[in-house]
Amino acid sequence: MKILVINAGSSSLKYQLIDMANKKVLAKGNCERIGIGGGKLSYKNFAGQSYEYNIDMPNHTVAFNNVKNALISGDEAVINSLSEITAIGHRVVQGGALFKHSVLVDEEVINGIESLNDLAPLHNPAHIQGIRAAVEAFGREVPQVAVFDTAFHSTMPPKAYIFGIPYEYYEKYQIRRYGFHGTSHRYVTGKCLELLGREEAPEGTKIITCHLGNGSSIAAVKDGLVVDTTMGLTPLDGFIMGTRSGAIDPSVVTFLAEKENLSPKEMSDLLNKQSGFLGLSGISSDDRDVTAAAKEGNERAILTQDILRYQIIKYIGSYIAAMGGVDAIVFTAGIGENQTSHREEICEGLSFFGVELDKEVNASKRGELAEISTASSKVRVYVIPTDEEIVIAEDTAALVKSLIE
Ligand code: ADP
Repeated sequence: MKILVINAGSSSLKYQLIDMANKKVLAKGNCERIGIGGGKLSYKNFAGQSYEYNIDMPNHTVAFNNVKNALISGDEAVINSLSEITAIGHRVVQGGALFKHSVLVDEEVINGIESLNDLAPLHNPAHIQGIRAAVEAFGREVPQVAVFDTAFHSTMPPKAYIFGIPYEYYEKYQIRRYGFHGTSHRYVTGKCLELLGREEAPEGTKIITCHLGNGSSIAAVKDGLVVDTTMGLTPLDGFIMGTRSGAIDPSVVTFLAEKENLSPKEMSDLLNKQSGFLGLSGISSDDRDVTAAAKEGNERAILTQDILRYQIIKYIGSYIAAMGGVDAIVFTAGIGENQTSHREEICEGLSFFGVELDKEVNASKRGELAEISTASSKVRVYVIPTDEEIVIAEDTAALVKSLIE
């Protein structure tokens, strides 16, 4: 069975074709600048053959048709016929309280995703475009599945997801914590439970998963189920990220809006696109650039790193308290998998809880699965490379099987 995994944005379409027989990525790439001119399609197959070509893609259906061609034509082809694609799995950012699991897409599901547009105005409408275009390009006979970023967090109790504002706004607008990166947190939780030998018996386990990338979030996972997470109504909450502020005193928003005469949209841009590493350091949203500047003694880069590490330590500490302990801490995504000095400083700050890092092992592990705690550490610390696409493909395959059986 081969599954096409899709992440549709308003002007982009990321794709991966995965062979479920061996979980191998046959080909992957991206369609960029859909509908805005100057389009570009990139393609790379399992043999390392790759190309990029400029092609105008006025809409997502045209983008899908280009992806189809890329998969079956020329020396770089990875399938002989489109009929080899059994199903399509779509990443959907916001599932709200409606979708607690992945689902087969039908008109009712599309309406459900659409009803959550207000909660994710940049994402959900684009996902629907992607789903509709996939139907046009592949036909109704190819089943489609939606996999939600929020779903893994749907086990949070109300005390973790209700904000301290008048309750009527929760009822009226469904304003609450939803959490994001759920597919990644779910993947690394599964791997961590395997490493702990508890995949069949997660009851009693306490895990903290740190997805540290351009966007970052941490989840507290008790008995294999999320009990709290740092992102909230939107991905803005939590700690500083590439360009996002993370949690701040909410009064800063009204204060700044008044002083700088900012509209809600401008305020949102400031907090989402001009803050975090970029706004603090004044250098870059990329942690590698900030790290390099910090090494050279740049004070604001050093401050940015200090803030990041301090905020992460505080969240992990609070989640240890919330769960009444911790068995394992997991680092994943670009920064978590690669940035060894952040991991070292964060673990140092958690030594009170019995976290003991093997500094040499830590320093040597980048982008690969590894245990980086010492044998005597009371808490296991792991680096686990994430793989959201395989989760989407697996969910899609499972739902499609249920359709066939
Ligand atoms: P996204 O959230 O866009 O998927 P990633 O998970 O790729 O992002 O994370 C991007 C962040 O990870 C950047 O801040 C980048 O500096 C950092 N990063 C990625 N690769 C490395 C690496 N090899 N070494 C250090 N940092 C890295």
